Amino acid sequence: MATGWVCHERYFWHDTGTGPLGAPSGGHLEPLRHPDHPDTKRRFRNLVEVSGLLERLVPLTPRPATEAELLRVHTPGHLARLRERSEAGGGDAGDGESPFGAGSYEIARLAAGGVVTAVDAVLDGTVANAYALVRPPGHHAVADRGIGFCMLGNVAVAAAHARARGLARVAVVDWDVHHGNGTQALFEADPSVLTISLHQDGLFPPGSGAVTERGTGPGEGFTVNVPLPPGSGTGAYLEAFEKVVEPAVRAFDPDLLLVASGFDASAYDPLARMALHSGSYRLLTERVLGLAGGRVVVAHEGGYSPEYVPFCGLAVVETLAGFRTPVVDPFLDGLLAVPGQDLADHQREAVARAAAALDVEALRRP
Ligand SMILES: [Zn+2]
Repeated sequence: MATGWVCHERYFWHDTGTGPLGAPSGGHLEPLRHPDHPDTKRRFRNLVEVSGLLERLVPLTPRPATEAELLRVHTPGHLARLRERSEAGGGDAGDGESPFGAGSYEIARLAAGGVVTAVDAVLDGTVANAYALVRPPGHHAVADRGIGFCMLGNVAVAAAHARARGLARVAVVDWDVHHGNGTQALFEADPSVLTISLHQDGLFPPGSGAVTERGTGPGEGFTVNVPLPPGSGTGAYLEAFEKVVEPAVRAFDPDLLLVASGFDASAYDPLARMALHSGSYRLLTERVLGLAGGRVVVAHEGGYSPEYVPFCGLAVVETLAGFRTPVVDPFLDGLLAVPGQDLADHQREAVARAAAALDVEALRRP
């Protein structure tokens, strides 16, 4: 069965302004462009087309998430503020680092709805799996505000939608280099949604995502964090999958697996210090397809290298579709020639700490 593909030109019209590296321009900071500018994702979409892969995918037309769908995870006040500022020409989603322009509330609704659309296609059996190339990203947004370039919790809205459709258990694996704090917060007390985040230790939000963050109340143990040291490459990520992600997801036995997929753990990313390459993302995608019976929806989050995101993204979609295009990653040989891909002792210890905090038996179905 085929792979679904969600994208929409509107996603590229979300205007994040001119703040270099996410800091507001002005004073001594010359305007340039916000890191979440459209080019990273647009160039990915373009490579998917030029590679010939696009014609092998099933196009899924996104719809805006409804207010009822958004209210499953967000407060009415947050939605009202976003709408008001969006209609007034723009504003910030909540933390001073998440600027948006006129009409972005509708684009954010289309992003959340895009992941919902992908989930519906997989659950309806229209496609085997799906990739949602949505923008703005979502995994930092909490119930009452946007954080870290995110306005609405796209993956969280989709997970809540899947639950509302009757699925008993949904798992989220977040390999964006930043902590998936929003998705975690929205389900921290909910044992029906397992959230696992792999991220650069303490990077963003600052200090967030320690192994000791395990969920609350009835959700205790259903929040899993794997903070990895800067410099982690393929070896460290595979170790994290083998020791934490795969045992946790297999025990939890979800009816659907959502992947919050950022490409900002790549070696070329300007906002982080990890070392992944397109081959790493190919391997990680193979691993997730071995979980949840392959019922996998991958949603685009961060990734700020316009040069390299396209090749990492293409590797993920190729793997989902089970088809290798003739595209050769022109940067891969160079990255493989540099040390740092093999598992190092301090990385093994970081994964071991995360594994020690995991109670696999508690995750099993009652
Ligand atoms: Zn990120």
